[in-house]
Amino acid sequence: MNATPGFRHDLMVLGAGPAGMAAATEAASSGLSVALLDEQGQAGGQVYRAPPAEFGAMPASPDAQRGDALRGALARSGARHLPLRRAWFVEPGFRVHVVGPDGPELHEAPRLILATGAYERVVPAPGWTLPGVVGLAAATVMLKAEGLLPGHRTVVAGAGPLLAAVAAGILKAGGAVAAVVDLARPGDWLARLPALASRPDLLARGAAWRARLAAARVPVLHGHAVVALHGDAALDAVEIAPVDPVTWAPRAEGRQRIAADACALGHGLVPDTAITRLLQLRHVFRAEAGGWIAQTDDALRGNLPGVYIAGDGAGIGGAAAAESRGRIAALAAALDAGRLDAAAHEARAAAPRAARARAERFGAAIATLMQPRPGPYAAIPQDTVVCRCEDITRATIEEALDAGARDVNQAKAWTRCGMGPCQGRMCGETLAELVALRMGGREAAGQLTGRPPLRPVPYDLLVGSFDYDTLDLPAPAPS
Ligand SMILES: Cc1cc2nc3c(=O)[nH]c(=O)nc-3n(C[C@H](O)[C@H](O)[C@H](O)COP(=O)(O)OP(=O)(O)OC[C@H]3O[C@@H](n4cnc5c(N)ncnc54)[C@H](O)[C@@H]3O)c2cc1C
Repeated sequence: MNATPGFRHDLMVLGAGPAGMAAATEAASSGLSVALLDEQGQAGGQVYRAPPAEFGAMPASPDAQRGDALRGALARSGARHLPLRRAWFVEPGFRVHVVGPDGPELHEAPRLILATGAYERVVPAPGWTLPGVVGLAAATVMLKAEGLLPGHRTVVAGAGPLLAAVAAGILKAGGAVAAVVDLARPGDWLARLPALASRPDLLARGAAWRARLAAARVPVLHGHAVVALHGDAALDAVEIAPVDPVTWAPRAEGRQRIAADACALGHGLVPDTAITRLLQLRHVFRAEAGGWIAQTDDALRGNLPGVYIAGDGAGIGGAAAAESRGRIAALAAALDAGRLDAAAHEARAAAPRAARARAERFGAAIATLMQPRPGPYAAIPQDTVVCRCEDITRATIEEALDAGARDVNQAKAWTRCGMGPCQGRMCGETLAELVALRMGGREAAGQLTGRPPLRPVPYDLLVGSFDYDTLDLPAPAPS
């Protein structure tokens, strides 16, 4: 393999969102030599994504202020932030293979904090691959990183707090929102009000988004789902239906079409466990935390010595929970490495532990609003594409299940669903929910085995340049 060896650290932190930035800062201030690796050009992750310099000075939102504060502390901490490093393979021990700006690199350390965040869940509907249909969380990236609107007239649909955030963001950027379509009903939101009130600042921010929608007279349809996206070469209308309040199954009556050239569609977030699966850590299924997560102790140690899991990868909890989990994981790593004694560790861990408990209460309330229910998956038509990379429809998956596939890995092997460049990030959840409908639950359906490459890697970067004549090929077998 064409990797440049020689980058050794006391601790590697993978992912520079709130969890990774806090972890690297805390660990460096405990005396560890720390490398913080991330594929993006600037630290910040998803929620604290720094706007490009060419956007010029912008009014400082609370997220922008917190992001700047964490980036400032990281820069002063002595931790080495290594941006533009895409990790594609992680070996126990730990060896992290990345593709960096100058080619392949190998980073090694006896301890590894995984802070790789989450990815979004999208339930397929006919037409979801049309141009104009984007992920709901992806729309936040378009708005923040590119200053781009999804379209001229956007339907914002799915589940969770990003609905109001994205719709308000589109209006603020001068776009038009045709409707907000929320699977949850007002009662679902009200039931969580006591927990949401534990963060009055975030509750107020949500109310401000709703007020902006009301002022612009944007229709908000609760208890509805997107059932089809229509258009020939690109999206021109979104079809929605009322849903059952318990299962969220779309109903046949009451369907309507909304004219739109864009739809931001998303049904919540899923913890990114690609690396903990690759390292074969023990996992547990926690629907209320977003799905499968690596099992950890209170200090976020995984069951393989030296590995710690922080941020949304340890269960969907939001930015504040991610930050405090990052600090807790880093302090545990410093204790385990002998850089902190037990008394110093206890003294420094008290504040992040308290912050984590507060933040997780809020985060859990939000996460349960996005918890998937069976109705939307059961309603996916047979000819709808589930795996966009390999062009696999629901019918092909059902055929594999009819033929005896009993878990997600068998269904993947028999259909190629999840074998494309996204490695199941787009289709893995749908595959698992379809298997779960047959097998009686997500635990029975299992989880996809972790496999490299975690990210697409240019093959020539890994093999380097070589001459066939100098290759040490084994002699042909005697005939
Ligand atoms: C697309 C998206 C947009 C979101 N937008 C918002 C928002 O606008 N507001 C909000 O409140 N919440 C948002 N969220 C939720 C939010 O991300 C989390 O609650 C919070 O940021 C979690 O922090 P974290 O540190 O755990 O992970 P993140 O902030 O997600 O940071 C993880 C980092 O790890 C990096 N990474 C992952 N895998 C690799 C790899 N193999 N190699 C190198 N780097 C890697 C990622 O690029 C990222 O920078 C969004 C989530 C997603 C998936």
